[in-house]
Amino acid sequence: MDTNCIFCRIAAGEIPSTKIYENDKVLAFLDISPMERGHTLIVPRRHWATMADLPSGDPETEAVMSEWFRVARLVCKAAIKAFGGGANLLQCNGPAAGQTVPHLHLHVIPRPGTVETQPSFVSGARAYSSDVEREATAELLRRYLR
Ligand code: AMP
Ligand code: ZN
Repeated sequence: MDTNCIFCRIAAGEIPSTKIYENDKVLAFLDISPMERGHTLIVPRRHWATMADLPSGDPETEAVMSEWFRVARLVCKAAIKAFGGGANLLQCNGPAAGQTVPHLHLHVIPRPGTVETQPSFVSGARAYSSDVEREATAELLRRYLR
């Protein structure tokens, strides 16, 4: 654990988050500045900053990667069932790619409806109107993950 890392601290339960799924390898929680309703981050518990920091050929790392993508896939499926439409997966490596939190994470961004316009990737574009709306959104995703 990196004690200066916000996602390590969320994983350790030191900083609150709206979790929708967790196990011993990964956790998934709502993004604090959502691009869309239900925007979720899938985060390995172990600290690596970027893809470039992952060792290759290490079975333990491979197991985490496999679990990371399995959960991303389930959250993506849950988002489409919960909100309709489609979903984007986004993963940023380094400031040049727009990474602001240097702890590996995958974004799942629901794209409700059927509008065929270019999706927006603006952080905070769809803030929750209340804690109640945020919790109801999380509960909907949790339900479709079961
Ligand atoms: P990236 O630009 O890929 O590094 O994305 C980092 C994401 O983390 C942004 O979408 C932020 O809104 C989100 N974020 C930052 N702090 C928190 C937090 N405490 N809880 C949930 N999401 C966060
Ligand atoms: Zn970390």
